[in-house]
Amino acid sequence: ATPTAIMVASGVGASQGVLIKGGDAMEKAHKVKIVVFDKTGTLTIGKPEVVSAVLFSKFSREELCDMTIAVEANSEHPIAKAVVTHAKRLKQSCGSQSIEQIQDVKDFEVHVGSGVSGKVKAKTVLVGNKKLMNAFNVPISPMVEKYMSENEILARTCVLVSIEGNIAGAFCVTDPVKPEAKSVISFLHNMGISTIIVTGDNWATANAIANEVGISEVFAEIDPMGKADIVKDLQMKGMTVAMVGDGINDSPALAAADVGMAIGAGTDIAIEAADVVLVKSNLEDVVTAIDLSKNTISRIW
Ligand code: ADP
Ligand code: MG
Repeated sequence: ATPTAIMVASGVGASQGVLIKGGDAMEKAHKVKIVVFDKTGTLTIGKPEVVSAVLFSKFSREELCDMTIAVEANSEHPIAKAVVTHAKRLKQSCGSQSIEQIQDVKDFEVHVGSGVSGKVKAKTVLVGNKKLMNAFNVPISPMVEKYMSENEILARTCVLVSIEGNIAGAFCVTDPVKPEAKSVISFLHNMGISTIIVTGDNWATANAIANEVGISEVFAEIDPMGKADIVKDLQMKGMTVAMVGDGINDSPALAAADVGMAIGAGTDIAIEAADVVLVKSNLEDVVTAIDLSKNTISRIW
């Protein structure tokens, strides 16, 4: 396409809330054969809420909540915010006098893609997924397994809390899919474009979300570099790849893709790594971006 055509398309895009950086993405977007979607915050709304909580050990509900809040209050992850809010509510409902009081944490650590840890009152507390528990050799009993799978099949993500090497409790969050997700996926399929989900979350939850939106190919439990590797593999198979994501953990994949599309409500790092910004955070604009490129190119030839 000529620079003028690209400028015109960029202007039209901007007026519709699709910001396109540079002409390169515009040149490639009409050739896209596959769209790789992140799950959390991209296909889903990204505002998780706790819908189930359970106590597994000798600790009291208040102790479990105190330990969990102490560690999660240091995390920026949307799941952490949901867990803290719920744990405070639980403390309130068991008559706690110290709802806003947060215990001190020592040795706080973020484990990217699996959770957080720290020491509270000299006890080691881990908050995160099964991968985190495995990494610290925390055994997961059949009872805990059962609770998790019952929730994961409902597209919920379970957060486990271990205190001193024992699972003390769990919180399950739900994060509904965006209302337009399903129709956008089916629209893409009708355009002859394939779709896949690539997520850091677990397989059961990822599969449940995939089912809900009509995506049949899923890669779960993938770390940030793994997301980029999947994009590169598809490119090596000769496909022009678009990646849609919102998180820091998506930025390597957004940069690797032929057309990286960041959700406007996403993190700055993702927006920086992308070629296209979907300002309205609406998935319909994935199609808008591809259409803009088609129109630009066809007007030239
Ligand atoms: P996604 O690719 O879905 O955006 P992330 O890579 O950010 O996910 O996280 C992967 C998984 O790690 C989450 O689904 C969650 O189980 C766990 N996790 C990460 N951070 C936290 C946290 N602060 N508290 C609890 N769980 C966490
Ligand atoms: Mg995300």
